[in-house]
Amino acid sequence: MSIRETICPLCGEPSDGDLCGRCRAGRTRWMEVSPRAECVTCPTCGSRKVGAVWQDSPVPREELARELALRAVRLSPEAREAEFSVSLWEKSPNRTIATVRVQAKLFGVPVEDEARVEIIWRGETCDRCSRISGGYFEGVVQVRADGRPLSPREREVAARIASEVEERLQEGGARLSFISRMTEEEGLDIVVGENAMGEEIAREIRGALGGRYTVHPKLTGEKDGKRIYRITYSVRLPGLQKGDIIEAGGEYLEVRETGKRQLKVFHLGTGGMTGIPHDTPYRLVGNVREAVPALIAYTEAGVAGILDPVTFATREVRLPGWVKAAAGSRIRVVPDRAADRLIIVG
Ligand SMILES: [Zn+2]
Ligand SMILES: [Zn+2]
Repeated sequence: MSIRETICPLCGEPSDGDLCGRCRAGRTRWMEVSPRAECVTCPTCGSRKVGAVWQDSPVPREELARELALRAVRLSPEAREAEFSVSLWEKSPNRTIATVRVQAKLFGVPVEDEARVEIIWRGETCDRCSRISGGYFEGVVQVRADGRPLSPREREVAARIASEVEERLQEGGARLSFISRMTEEEGLDIVVGENAMGEEIAREIRGALGGRYTVHPKLTGEKDGKRIYRITYSVRLPGLQKGDIIEAGGEYLEVRETGKRQLKVFHLGTGGMTGIPHDTPYRLVGNVREAVPALIAYTEAGVAGILDPVTFATREVRLPGWVKAAAGSRIRVVPDRAADRLIIVG
């Protein structure tokens, strides 16, 4: 082995062959950068356009700027152990200047360099926001109750389910599953941007509140040879709700379940559970949620003297066998205004 072969021909430093590491590193373009990066975001919801596709972007602008700056930098494969640092300067609302500093090892020699990337922020209304602002919708979930208005609780539960379904579908990547609007007139109308979502909402409301739903598609036009339907999901909640106190055939009953085939009721007189058909004639008295405590003044031979919680007059009420009550204790009652009676519910 000659001396010539062990020194670098450029600098004369010892080398294990051709150029030494330092000279090779000096002659290698190891870092390249695209000086401009553009990012399109929706000013309304912050979604980001990647190529032609909009995506929900949970990343804040600063983090996005770092990501874009790093993506603008390319290193040659010889660069090892690269470490990056990015500093940002908000030049204007639609310009961020990122300085990317890179330290690496090239042929065993430490090298460093820095580059500037100008990030251009462009605002564009996304597919979803333009649909929402244009009033676009595909279907309506109409929530109604049989023979009565919706209760405030039913409205609340139905609206909450709709919002939860929207959130869940969007988190799962279904961007266009949005609620266009909710209106309350005869009942609750949930206007949805996508039909699959309407079906899901209708099914979940029925699951939570009982009743049934039917689907009514209506042809509204054609687009690219495909038929376009607006679909109404008609959710019918049962006329009776859980906890309702009814009077049927002279008996007081508490509705425990509004199942598909029959009503499960608790017999407030005997304390037994029984099932009755949905079409049983009844008179609605109230609901156990409206029950108020009342003081038992005395008991005598299966009859209790109860202090009316409204009038404070003492009323005599037959004590059902399933109720344990003693003078001085309290009991829960629902007043039957029409019959001028107090109904003991527990
Ligand atoms: Zn050299
Ligand atoms: Zn948007």
